[in-house]
This record gives sequence, C-alpha cells and structure tokens, in this order.
Amino acid sequence: MKEICHNIQKIKKKLPPDVTLVAVSKTKPVSDILDAYNCYQRHFGENKVQELVNKYEKLPKDINWHMIGHLQRNKVKYIVPFVYLIHGVDNLKLLQEIEKQAAKINRIVNVLLQIKIARETTKFGMNEELLSEIVNLYQNNTFTHIQLKGLMGMATHTTDSKQIAGEFRYLHQLFEKYNRILPEFTYLSMGMSGDYPIAVANGSNLIRIGSAVFGARTYM
Ligand SMILES: *Cc1c(COP(=O)(O)O)cnc(C)c1O
Repeated sequence: MKEICHNIQKIKKKLPPDVTLVAVSKTKPVSDILDAYNCYQRHFGENKVQELVNKYEKLPKDINWHMIGHLQRNKVKYIVPFVYLIHGVDNLKLLQEIEKQAAKINRIVNVLLQIKIARETTKFGMNEELLSEIVNLYQNNTFTHIQLKGLMGMATHTTDSKQIAGEFRYLHQLFEKYNRILPEFTYLSMGMSGDYPIAVANGSNLIRIGSAVFGARTYM
C-alpha cells in the first residue's frame, strides 16, 4: 500500500465517526493528492489561493476544497466559485467581500470564523466581542450568501499539552454557545498533526492534518 494511504487509514481508525479529516496538501504535488483521493479521501486543505485554484483545476471535481490559510480580500473572487469551506475568516471586511463575490454568482459560501486562542501574537483570529457582533449581523440577515458553519482556531505551538487543551476547551465552549442558537453552526475546526488527539478529546469535529498524512514539507 502507498504510504499516504497508510497514513490516512491509520489516522482515521482512531477518529470518532463524526470527525472529518481535512488532508492539508499545501506544497505537495497533485500526484500525492491523487494517492489520497484513491484512498477515498475527499476533503483537502490549502493555504494559498493560487495553489488552491491550480489544484482545483487539475483534480477530480468531487473533491471538497478547504481554504485554511489567511485570505486576502482581493483574492476572494478566485475561490468563491468552488470552495467548500473557508476556515480563516477573522475580520468583518473579509466577510463582506465574500458576501459580495458570492452574491455576484448567486452562490452560498460556507465560512468558519477564526478565533485567536494561541499566545503567539503572530497567530490570526478575532476575539469574542467581534464574534458576537458578527453573529448578530448574521442573525439580522446582513449576509444572504454566507452560511456561518462554525469556528476555527490554532493552539499555541508548545509541548505543554495542558496549555493546548485549555485553549481548545475555551474554543469548544464558544462553539457550543453559538451552536445552540444557529442550526447550521456545526463545524469546530481545530487540531493539526502535532495536536489533533488533544483537539478531538476537546470537541473538535474537523481536523486539518498535513505532515502526518503527506510527510514533512520542504519549502522552496
Ligand atoms: C499547514 C497547516 C495545517 C497542517 O499542519 P501540519 O502540522 O502539517 O498538520 C493546519 N492548519 C493550518 C491553518 C495550516 O496552515
């Protein structure tokens, strides 16, 4: 069996049935994605718009593409026609641009709001206050071409698993708060190769796994 397929099966075997694995294929060639696809993997994540669009064009159309990286407003239009889920929405202007581009083509786009849970100042994400503001706007039908599907977060890069668990627990609590009032609010995206068991133990149902599926990345 190919190694990528072996990795996917090994990870999936340990996941509860309600957890979806997003295979993060950034920097990896189309041939690697096809190995995963032939192993019944259908959810893939990329963090750069150009790379996402290139791969979308080359690969089978029943793939669900996740935009997991920081998204610039001027690039929204390139992914809105086909993207399955945008994970990293962390400001109102970006949400407004997604609404505008989605309205143009009459498509409903699924988004997750990214919450800052890590200690590092370099990590993106909004605070609770902005989250509450955006949910209010959403409930007042400000966004008719957007489905708020849930929350996304990245934990601090640390070996302190208690710290990581605490951050994921906090995000899960926030998620539960809005999950009770919005029926479509169903995804909690947290967990990467290094911390997904902690994320799943703390309520994640969407994990974004790169290196544990495809091997280590080498950046040019
Ligand atoms: C690259 C990336 C991942 C996957 O990272 P691994 O450590 O390789 O699993 C997950 N989420 C985001 C936002 C990423 O940019």
